Amino acid sequence: MLFAEGPASNWIILRRGEAFTLIDGGYPGDLPLVLDSIAEAGLDPAAAAAVLVTHAHVDHAGTAGYFAAAFDIPVLCRAPELPYLRGEDREQVSVARILGRAWQPSVLHWGWHALLAGGAGRVAVPTARAWHDDAELAALPGSPVAVPTSGHTPGHTSFYLQAAAAVATGDALVTGHAISRQRGPQLLDAMFHSDAGGARRSLGALGKLDAALLLPGHGPAVRTGLRQAVGTARLRPTRARKRRLVAPGPIGGFAEPTYGRQVPEGSEG
Ligand SMILES: [Zn+2]
Repeated sequence: MLFAEGPASNWIILRRGEAFTLIDGGYPGDLPLVLDSIAEAGLDPAAAAAVLVTHAHVDHAGTAGYFAAAFDIPVLCRAPELPYLRGEDREQVSVARILGRAWQPSVLHWGWHALLAGGAGRVAVPTARAWHDDAELAALPGSPVAVPTSGHTPGHTSFYLQAAAAVATGDALVTGHAISRQRGPQLLDAMFHSDAGGARRSLGALGKLDAALLLPGHGPAVRTGLRQAVGTARLRPTRARKRRLVAPGPIGGFAEPTYGRQVPEGSEG
């Protein structure tokens, strides 16, 4: 398994021999990095068995269309997410909503990166489909198990990777984000969820998984029991405290995540 911590969001390569499953794939502008990570794993992009999408936001599903168009690779999601992945409907934090919060320097910075990487682009993978059943997923490299975690989006799905005792949580549970000053397991800011209450409730499903490695959609991988990670996230506020415009300190107060690919050995609460 290869966990790639991209410039803004993460993706995962699950290999079995020459074949692999790709979970998410960054912004459209991250395609060269995604292809690099596949090459670094010694794999051929055409050998992808499937691209699994946790949810159809452009920072996660941005390169799925490439794999579908270039190599006829199945792009799969859970049924409620399908209209968004196909581009028939749209569910994403709006520019107006971001600008409404733009007094926060970190929000501005996040919006800027998003724009540069193709965040204003639309996700539209017309050939995308929902997986038929659990058996179809189990047959893929990495044998992912779908864990419905609606809330961030209507059809958001996490993937339990039993052999690795890991969970790919997408945006249902993250360990950092450009606009968050917190580190470690946490929910995204409530403004990013289509149903913030649902996002909190979905933590329950993640907390039941027997896993010791959290592979989030944003932030570094963390070696931690999922039950513990969920407990940490539940205790944290989901909306950053308001800061005054004149507040001193470095712009944004965070460092842009660096591009690397590794699973840390250390643990974090
Ligand atoms: Zn998202």
